[in-house]
Amino acid sequence: YFRTERLPHIWCPGCANGIIVKSLVEAIDKAGLDQDKTVIVSGIGCSSRAPGYLNFNTLHTVHGRAIAFATGVKVANPELNVIVVTGDGDGTSIGGNHLIHGARRNLDLTVVLFNNNIYGMTGGQYSPMSPHGAKATTSPYGNVERPFDICNLVTASGASYVARGNSYNTGQLTNLIYKGLQNKGFSFVEALSTCPVYFGRKNKMGKAPDMLKWQKDVCITKEAASRMTAEERAEKIITGVLHHEEMPEYTELYQKVIDKCQGGRA
Ligand code: SF4
Repeated sequence: YFRTERLPHIWCPGCANGIIVKSLVEAIDKAGLDQDKTVIVSGIGCSSRAPGYLNFNTLHTVHGRAIAFATGVKVANPELNVIVVTGDGDGTSIGGNHLIHGARRNLDLTVVLFNNNIYGMTGGQYSPMSPHGAKATTSPYGNVERPFDICNLVTASGASYVARGNSYNTGQLTNLIYKGLQNKGFSFVEALSTCPVYFGRKNKMGKAPDMLKWQKDVCITKEAASRMTAEERAEKIITGVLHHEEMPEYTELYQKVIDKCQGGRA
C-alpha cells in the first residue's frame, strides 16, 4: 500500500502523522477495499502529504478544498471509495465550509482529520482547534479564542458517522476508521495527532513520547466517561463512536432523481 520510492517521508522525527497513516492503511486493508477503486484526496498541510506516500489513486489538491475535490470525484463516479485526509488548519478553517456542507449532504466520503492543534507546515500558527490558552507563534501569550468541538459541529451539520480516536490507541483508531469506511454516507473521524516540533515545544509538553503519554492519560471512552462525575470529565477528551445513524446518502438520492427523469422521458 506504500510508495516506498517516495520514502523517507518529510515529517519531523516524533510526528504522529505516520502512526495515523498506518491506522488508515490497516482500516482500508481490513475493509478489503479495491486499491484501484479507492481514491485518497488531501488539501495542504503536514497531514495532507500522506496520500503522496500511498499507493492508491491520490489527489493532493489545494488548501482547504479536499472535500470539494472529493465531492466531484464521488458524484462523477459513485462506485469509487473516496477518502479525504485533512488537518485541523486545512479542514476546519479555510475548508470548514466544505466540511459542514459535505456532512449536510451525507455524501459517501470518509474524512480523516488529523488534529495536531496547530498549523505545522506553515510555522506553528494557532488554528481553530488550538485550545484556549495554548501558545503558538501567533499567540505567544496564549490563545484567547475557543476551539471548535469539531465532532459536535460535524454531527450537527448532518453527518451519519462521527468518531474520535488518537495516535496513542492505534487499535481503537483503526477500528473507528474501518467503521467509517463501512458506513454509507458522510463519515468523519477526528484523529488526535501530535506535533512535538511546534505545539509540543511552544506548550512545554515534552518530547514525542511524553505527548503520546499525555494522549493516553487524557483520552477516555464514552463508557469510562459515563462512570465519572462532571468535574472528573471536564479535562478529558472522549473517544470512540460519538454518533451513528442510518440516513439517505447523497449520490443514491440523486440517482433516484436521474432515474425518474429518464423514466419520464421514455
Ligand atoms: Fe509533524 Fe509538526 Fe513536523 Fe508537521 S511540523 S511534520 S505536524 S511534527
